[in-house]
Amino acid sequence: MAGEYDPQTFYDGLVRHGLIVPVGVPGAFGRGAVFEDVLERFNALVSQLARDDHAEVYTFPPVISRAVLEKVKYLDSFPHLCGAVYSFFGKEPEAKALAARVNEGQPWGDLLGITDVVMNPAACYPVYPSFSGTLPQAGRQVTMLNWVYRHEPSNEPTRMQSFRVREFVRAGTPAQVLAWRDLWLQRGLSLLVALGLPARAEVAADPFFGRGGKLLAINQKDQQLKFEVLVPVISAAEPTAVCSFNFHQEHFGTTFGIRTPDGHTASTACLGFGLERIVMALFRTHGFDPEGWPAQVRRQLWP
Ligand code: ZN
Repeated sequence: MAGEYDPQTFYDGLVRHGLIVPVGVPGAFGRGAVFEDVLERFNALVSQLARDDHAEVYTFPPVISRAVLEKVKYLDSFPHLCGAVYSFFGKEPEAKALAARVNEGQPWGDLLGITDVVMNPAACYPVYPSFSGTLPQAGRQVTMLNWVYRHEPSNEPTRMQSFRVREFVRAGTPAQVLAWRDLWLQRGLSLLVALGLPARAEVAADPFFGRGGKLLAINQKDQQLKFEVLVPVISAAEPTAVCSFNFHQEHFGTTFGIRTPDGHTASTACLGFGLERIVMALFRTHGFDPEGWPAQVRRQLWP
């Protein structure tokens, strides 16, 4: 494996070993049993790290309320990544027209209407509305494993349209939230390095849309609001972000009316492990067959 950093070769290798299953659309492939086994075992290691934190555990569906997406102004910054759910609202004649268009191979999207749900673009979004009101003295801490959607069709295997993030969210005073983020940055790095991955942390920015977005990204970097942990998967020069650590300041606190016990607007932070990307980094680094992975890596994943 060493030395080859070609997306197609890596993708073909994942397919050949039954790790992923092509479905005819880029970035939406299925996952084989071995791939899932590694993913679940890595997720269990993260749970172990978090054991003494006693975070509340939630699970959300892959769709969220469209009103939440609108309220956090997602479309101001990321219109290019959004996936809204559209359905059919018509009667008999419109249904006939719709089927005819589909069967003739004509475009049919204009015959659908927008629904109340959108694909969830960030694992933590469903949580913030539930924080509204006054937080307990110690703040809140929540963890989730959610499916996330981004409209980024690509043949590069680490750029998926749909993937899972093991996410943690913290709300509280700025001091509580920042100390927690820094603790997790160290935990995340140590975990990946212990699994033999050449991981390093870097200040990062979100993929904001357009020219205005460039300014937002510069500002985000200047204030060190976002860190990513990077591991080479496809490119040594441009390693893949496998975790991100985000300090939102009072953004969600203001949007959803979240307050600390002393009446101030709460700060929030979140962090996410991109589970498929971490699994791919393991296959990229240690080879396509987990039986042949270094003993100290195997010991941790298959204790
Ligand atoms: Zn998040």
